[in-house]
Amino acid sequence: MHKAVIIGTGPAGLTAAIYLARANLEPIVIEGPEPGGQLTLTTEVENFPGFPDGIMGRELMNNMRKQAERFGAEFHRGWVTSVDFTNRPFNLSVDGMSDLQTESLIISTGASAKLLGIPGEKENIGRGVSTCATCDGFFFRGKEIVVIGGGDSAMEEANFLTKFAAKVTVVHRRNEMRASKIMQDRARANPKIEWALNTIPVEVLAGEQGVTALKGRDASTGEEKVIQTDGIFVAIGHTPNTGFLGDKLETDDTGYILVKPGTSETNIAGVFACGDVQDHTYRQAITAAGSGCMAALDVEKFLEGNRVHDWSITL
Ligand code: NAP
Repeated sequence: MHKAVIIGTGPAGLTAAIYLARANLEPIVIEGPEPGGQLTLTTEVENFPGFPDGIMGRELMNNMRKQAERFGAEFHRGWVTSVDFTNRPFNLSVDGMSDLQTESLIISTGASAKLLGIPGEKENIGRGVSTCATCDGFFFRGKEIVVIGGGDSAMEEANFLTKFAAKVTVVHRRNEMRASKIMQDRARANPKIEWALNTIPVEVLAGEQGVTALKGRDASTGEEKVIQTDGIFVAIGHTPNTGFLGDKLETDDTGYILVKPGTSETNIAGVFACGDVQDHTYRQAITAAGSGCMAALDVEKFLEGNRVHDWSITL
């Protein structure tokens, strides 16, 4: 039986692993199909404090992992298929290894940016295709950018990117926007934003230097058009990676785990959540790392028996 298991190896899970390992709790860390999480999909990270010259996302995550291993965290590759919180210790079924029993659990499985699934998209991530304006906007100073989506994320990203870009074209598959009126109004009032509505993205076109254009199709006439661009930001939403939980934890109606405000506690005592799996607002590496630290400290308190268990969610 283990004292603590962490599922997920993004900045939240790895920070929790560093803290728990340093507290001699010998955490077991389960690495899923995307070790290191979303940061390994980006190129240079310039806003993580402590790296004045920036650091590559993959390198940052490798360093965090080494730091956790140095203090005794144990990593296993596997896919958690189900969890049983009805008895203590909790039981985790993990593909690729035998079941795990643990007194406490940290869930830091993150969220995945939705992709369009069109040709040229995945292979050009980091070469002009991005799912994170905060991470990558800076690289598009004076350039022309396309933002895909019609929700609040797309409006927010488009507005943010006008700080850098010469022009931002919002491409949306319908004429009506899903975004809130205030976000739409703000984007519409921005002179740097142009609109390609009723346009279904069909293909990302790229050359040796990266993205060159987005090919789209008019949703009414079927006519194809090519929008020349230096970068494409896909902003069609995120999905929290909570499928393996079934309905065993309280989540909001989009699947994000609910935690007691100001803590990492879920509605089940001994189960904690940190990082993007419980945060659809900030979604930054540094906020994820901070919440991972909180989860580790909450686990320590829980294992010492100092935590009041169970809470009712009041919204
Ligand atoms: P969202 O509201 O689900 O919007 C996703 C957009 O992407 C929709 O316009 C959708 O088009 C489009 N889309 C989805 N799949 C597509 C596909 N395969 N091809 C082309 N377009 C596709 O997601 P979100 O904008 O990320 O927002 C998620 C939640 O976070 C919302 O509740 C939002 O209010 C909130 N949020 C709030 C703020 C803020 O208040 N500052 C900022 C960001 C997000 P259709 O409309 O045609 O379905």
